[in-house]
Amino acid sequence: MDSMKNYSTVKTHFETILIKHATSHCEITLNLEKVQITETYEDQYYIGFVGTSTSNEGFCRKCGQVLTRFKQYKTTYTTIARFNDKNVVLKLRKKMYHCPDCRSSTTERLIKQSGSNQKTDSFLASMIGCLKETVSYSAVARLYKVSVSNLIRHFDKTHLAETRVDRKAVRNISVDEVRFVKQRHSNYQFVIMDSDTKQVLDILKSRQSSDIQHYLRAHYQGILTFTQDLWRPYRTVALNLFQGVKVVADKFHVVRQFMWAFSRARISLAKAKNKRTCRFWKILTKTRQKLDDRGKIRLEQLLAEDPELRVLHEAKEMALSLFRCKDSESYLRLLPAFKAAIEQDGLEEFRKAYKSLVNWHEEIINMFELPYSNGSMERTNRTIKQSKNIAFGFTNLARATKLIQYRVN
Ligand SMILES: [Zn+2]
Repeated sequence: MDSMKNYSTVKTHFETILIKHATSHCEITLNLEKVQITETYEDQYYIGFVGTSTSNEGFCRKCGQVLTRFKQYKTTYTTIARFNDKNVVLKLRKKMYHCPDCRSSTTERLIKQSGSNQKTDSFLASMIGCLKETVSYSAVARLYKVSVSNLIRHFDKTHLAETRVDRKAVRNISVDEVRFVKQRHSNYQFVIMDSDTKQVLDILKSRQSSDIQHYLRAHYQGILTFTQDLWRPYRTVALNLFQGVKVVADKFHVVRQFMWAFSRARISLAKAKNKRTCRFWKILTKTRQKLDDRGKIRLEQLLAEDPELRVLHEAKEMALSLFRCKDSESYLRLLPAFKAAIEQDGLEEFRKAYKSLVNWHEEIINMFELPYSNGSMERTNRTIKQSKNIAFGFTNLARATKLIQYRVN
């Protein structure tokens, strides 16, 4: 219904306003086969052409035979393109032919359009193409002078290569949770990506183990690796479902445990000493080797003032070098020294974080030995966040998933 409203808006605008702005020096001309352009109009928003069919035969839409019996004209208003922020509209008098055998009438098709007469395929393709960028539906709708619901209707109808995924062929997946669509029973959704092609395969409405397990069982098989954060229920699901699967811990999430440990310990140390450290958190958090010369000097001053902070900083640097290892052998070589270092007093936070290295030992070894991480998930998450922010929250998960796939895949 809405599209009809938009259509009559275009028609009304053409007949009441645009019609008063005849022009003889329009920047574009229309060359269509079997169409004679008789008038051209241009105002602030639209360029309008009036054309008449010059054909003298058509084809029956039922039996396909050539028709020559002209019945009547049919006038349509079709948005065919955009030019300099203006919509180009063609008011076209088409011919309707009558078939003596089928006793039916066929209106000729003079411009490439499927479905209605209102917009050409190329105009729609260009409009839908705009959605690939991180812009809101309403911004694109405004640009193309259509209503938001009309844009969404066309987006829903469009078949996109980006959303075609072959789950049966997927062998390596990465998963993560994301806040995306607010659903009644869950605030988090579960994203499944192909670790090899970096395609978004699915966004599930909940991250609950039972839901995930059910979905994965129904749609995936022969999964070889399963890359995830340090959330036990996901691992349980993966090991339950896929025989011989290798669960891979995502490096970012592992390292983050120690960055959090450092940050918590540092803050409580500062509190205990009634000092402020927040001014220097960047210098303290950054890997020492990534600091410039001034940063290194400043860091040395800070650590010289505070021996306890130096101990915390050393532990953090050790953790970072642990995960810079190129292979599991180097990791296993460095691990005992790290363990010994954090056994000392005052490193309680690091001891807690170290437990995750024990609990996820196999998955961390897999992380060094297999070429997978959730790195591409980061990009997807970013796209989701940006898309969510500008769309004021999505409500339709299927459509939102299609949009994210369109943008990421
Ligand atoms: Zn016929």
